[in-house]
Amino acid sequence: MTFNDNARSGGSRVSKRGRNTGFAVGGGGIGLIAILLISQAFGVDLTGFIGGGTGGNTAADTTLENCDTGADANANLECRLDFAAQSLDAYWEQELGSDYVPPPLVLFEQATNTGCGGATSAVGPFYCPADQTVYLDVGFYDDLRTRFDTDAGPLAQMYVIAHEFGHHIQNLEGTMNSIDRGDTGPTSDAVRLELQADCYAGAWAGEASTVPDDSGTPFLEPITRAQVADALDAAAAIGDDRIQESTQGQVNPEAWTHGSSEQRQQWFATGYEQGASACDTFAAGAL
Ligand SMILES: [Zn+2]
Repeated sequence: MTFNDNARSGGSRVSKRGRNTGFAVGGGGIGLIAILLISQAFGVDLTGFIGGGTGGNTAADTTLENCDTGADANANLECRLDFAAQSLDAYWEQELGSDYVPPPLVLFEQATNTGCGGATSAVGPFYCPADQTVYLDVGFYDDLRTRFDTDAGPLAQMYVIAHEFGHHIQNLEGTMNSIDRGDTGPTSDAVRLELQADCYAGAWAGEASTVPDDSGTPFLEPITRAQVADALDAAAAIGDDRIQESTQGQVNPEAWTHGSSEQRQQWFATGYEQGASACDTFAAGAL
């Protein structure tokens, strides 16, 4: 999936945060917040999450520079994420109208403070409902390639961002507050929430080549089959069953929080083929 070379940026959507040197490790008694957050995170190794950290010298955020055109987005990962966020904004504005409020997107290195407490790279990309912000350490994409053994091409990279935007949509829609987050298992609320975020990511991907920049040029060129296969491969790689098998040597469906590889692929595909209105993973009989 590539951007049209002459698509224009409407202004950087990404904040870049420098390394957080004095980060306070171990947050004490605020683990509950971490647990609540973990249930919404992207679904990799969440054990490194630090709840409640408030210390640390977080460097001032900067915006990206030299991400002016689609050609820049094709050449540079950070520009690609910036343009992906702009494309996602345009898509969700189209879907939700004035109800849509764009979420900040923060790229960090190693560790950062968030409205949900301190976080390290180990949590993977995540959405924090308290400050309505998407956080990502771009090093996660190296994990997708090495640890999860996927190609992690451009569409797979953008799927990660689109999934977290999906959580933001759920927050705006009130879904996040209405579910039982403590529940786990293949048909649990936690899994339904994650699969809906996958479906929303697919819905954006399905429309992405028609969503225009301010001048009317579509941000993205039509998606190829190979790119969809790569994104589905990424979705499968972070399925709970696949991760359990590789980390614990066995599969325990009752502990699932994000859904199986098959479920994640299926719901991304549902959104891709049928759009966001088909993403009601909470409907009776949906799972
Ligand atoms: Zn998620």
